Amino acid sequence: MATIKPIEGRSVHQIQSGQVIVDLCSVVKELVENSLDARATSIDVRFKNYGLDSIEVQDNGAGIASEDFETIALKHYTSKLSNYADLSTLQTFGFRGEALSSLCALSKFHIITARASDGPKGTRLEFEPSGKLKETSVVASQKGTIVAVENLFYNLPVRRRELEKNIKREYGKVLNLLHAYACISTGVRVAVSQQISKGKKVVVFSTKANTTTKENISQVYGAKTVLALVPLDLKLEMNPLGGAASSSVKANIPDDTSREVHISGHISRPVVGEGRSTPDRQMFFVNSRPCALPQVTKAFNEVYKSYNVTQSAFIFANLVMDTNAYDVNVSPDKRTILLHDQSMLLEKLKECLVDLFENHDQSVPQSQF
Ligand code: ADP
Ligand code: MG
Repeated sequence: MATIKPIEGRSVHQIQSGQVIVDLCSVVKELVENSLDARATSIDVRFKNYGLDSIEVQDNGAGIASEDFETIALKHYTSKLSNYADLSTLQTFGFRGEALSSLCALSKFHIITARASDGPKGTRLEFEPSGKLKETSVVASQKGTIVAVENLFYNLPVRRRELEKNIKREYGKVLNLLHAYACISTGVRVAVSQQISKGKKVVVFSTKANTTTKENISQVYGAKTVLALVPLDLKLEMNPLGGAASSSVKANIPDDTSREVHISGHISRPVVGEGRSTPDRQMFFVNSRPCALPQVTKAFNEVYKSYNVTQSAFIFANLVMDTNAYDVNVSPDKRTILLHDQSMLLEKLKECLVDLFENHDQSVPQSQF
């Protein structure tokens, strides 16, 4: 008798969903990215009991068309990508159509949405764990979308227990992530609030729809933080003949790919007394997508430490590069990004940073740069 059999559909869905939504951070990240993809200019993130009871993300974006209600939470249904080739020119955060379907499988989940043409009415959508639409009802609503996730991991007891045990730490990580989205998103108001048990709702932080990342940073971290920063404006010329590691990778990159990597942002001056005691404020982005770049982080810190050995830098660095020059489809949570020519990039980055730190005038605050 054959021993190899397919796993039953519902179990496959649950297994895969647990890889997309691994923790509280993944929930918040997916929902905020969806709001940004819907071109929202105002995003409210509300936590009840650090997210253990509920996480709600409300935006004033495009809303969801009634024609899409049936499919919105089905796995691999997306408005953003239709084939693999589209990935190389992707302009949106999302592309796999997995977040909403995964949240249906792992939480008590509903959506309220309204388009501009719907007037003051919206629709509340309820789903089966499979992502199939269960029920719709008419509710009062402004234009935009509210996605509510309650009782996350209620059906994965081990993960739920871990979440409860580590909730304060998880919540801290979520706030760091929200700081990153709030700082990079110019033209978008971001407000984060929290309610503990039956207590009052408290605003954790908020930004206005500022025009510059510097204003965003000032509202998230305080005006004093900004005073200690110098602008980052590094142009890394990625000459293909300049590094041995690049030639083998280059063969896979289309000829029209721009070779330049532009790093813009802000960094604290490498002056003793102006750094931070821990590296807790370091944000990295690739084309404005917050992501983990361990090697780039290490390179920044190495150079900074050679000027200020006792402290850590505040870093806000956005790597702007051709969409062909990296791959976001590495891990289900899309936080890991594969950079082509990484070793050359690191080499050039260190050179440029040394140049910046050598040539900045330590006595001049940023407002005069
Ligand atoms: P993806 O973002 O990869 O497309 P998701 O499961 O996150 O997959 O979302 C599925 C689809 O639902 C999106 O492609 C988008 O069309 C729609 N959607 C999700 N969130 C929102 C939102 N806040 N506003 C408008 N549409 C949304
Ligand atoms: Mg998405």
